[in-house]
Amino acid sequence: MRTPLLVLTAVGALGLTADLLGQPARKVDPRLSVIRPEWIAASIRYLADDALRGRETGQPGAELAAKYVAAQFEAAGLQPLDGFPNYLMPVPLRHSTVVAAETRASLSRSGVQVPLTLDVDFLVHPDKRLERDAFEGEVVFVGWGVTVPGGYDDYQGVDVRGKVVAMFFGGPASVPPDERGHFASLAMKEANARRHGAVGVVTLMPAPGPQLGRQLGQLEGFGWVDPAGAAHSPFFETGTTLRLAATGTDKLLEGTGATVAGLLERLARGPASYSTGARLAFEGAYRHRSVVAHNALGVLPGTDPVLKREYVVYSAHLDHVGVGQPVDGDSVHHGAVDNAGGTAVVAALARAFASLPRPKRSVIFLAVTGEEKGILGSDYFVHHPPVPLDAIVANVNLDNAVLIEPIRDLVAYGAGYSTLGAVARSAFARLGVAPSEDPLPEMTIFSRSDHYAFMRAGVPGLMLLPGAARRDGQRRW
Ligand SMILES: [Zn+2]
Repeated sequence: MRTPLLVLTAVGALGLTADLLGQPARKVDPRLSVIRPEWIAASIRYLADDALRGRETGQPGAELAAKYVAAQFEAAGLQPLDGFPNYLMPVPLRHSTVVAAETRASLSRSGVQVPLTLDVDFLVHPDKRLERDAFEGEVVFVGWGVTVPGGYDDYQGVDVRGKVVAMFFGGPASVPPDERGHFASLAMKEANARRHGAVGVVTLMPAPGPQLGRQLGQLEGFGWVDPAGAAHSPFFETGTTLRLAATGTDKLLEGTGATVAGLLERLARGPASYSTGARLAFEGAYRHRSVVAHNALGVLPGTDPVLKREYVVYSAHLDHVGVGQPVDGDSVHHGAVDNAGGTAVVAALARAFASLPRPKRSVIFLAVTGEEKGILGSDYFVHHPPVPLDAIVANVNLDNAVLIEPIRDLVAYGAGYSTLGAVARSAFARLGVAPSEDPLPEMTIFSRSDHYAFMRAGVPGLMLLPGAARRDGQRRW
């Protein structure tokens, strides 16, 4: 691909903002001084306000956030994209939940049946397409449930056709973090299991008990809906998946001599798949509701007669996770960092670009909904792009844009998979920001935000995050 120099500006915005917050001045492009820190501060203050109730996808708070950003795009002088005169793109979603009274599961071994208790031993990720679902079969442990083409394979040497596969949450440490985040995502592992002929998928989550499962339950169950009515999620599963908490995992392994610690130890040395000798039976009922959420978007047309038909997309997710358990009496998850900050920077970039001499390429500014539900707003966008997808030459994504302390280094997640890596490196050099390696490889951050939806669709992408270098090495938020 050709080099979209515009990436410099996103980095510049971050670098400049850091300067204005007290870092020693660096030689930045003087044009960037049009960006005012109060633009960003004011946007964050609004987006993170109690009134927006944590910007839960599809709820009034997130819709207000989308309208607020759309208004900023319009006021900045962006043009609407074809078909979206109000700077808002409707994203049709389906949310699926479990009908507890009609949902049950049990294990059996040597004719002895062991019932599993919903929300204690197991949680259910509902099928987004069915009212009812059921499966039954022998349980085969398939390690992490990961197959890397030409590499690591948990399905080597086991036949799971017509069987139920049980796998740990996560992936093998021997697979590099970015690839692990991709091949060990819940959706990829589900598709892998079905491809191998499994009739049921069980994810083992023994470590934190059902808490992680409940957290997942808050985020998952959403998919975007295509015109034919089918639901899609690039991150979570489409079909039914059971999640066994600690007590459920114990019941599966009971009497077999296997333990969670022992299985993890074997897996550290390589695939360790085997039949558990247990059978699992499940039946469940689901309810579905339709929600229409919105992405905010606008375009600044380029000046070059040829290059204006190419687009760089700056993106940030405007949604957060809503309302939860009160902390110090406050139940609103404000999401000032995640991701009012990134959204505010994208809005500020739109304003800055619009007031400067126009670039040759066209620039789309995009604030997406549904990121916390499995990068749904961005995945919908790349499947229903307002311009031809192959005309989008790059995506620069901001998530968790941390603007509360000096930025000394940045990680360009995903940049290594395209020529954007070289662009980012030269931008960092100009700004005096050190390029950093991923400081948290175990978190597989690469595959956890909206640039990943673009990259899955073949668009070069990157996400910028501060690295490990901080004044005192501490995170303070
Ligand atoms: Zn985020």
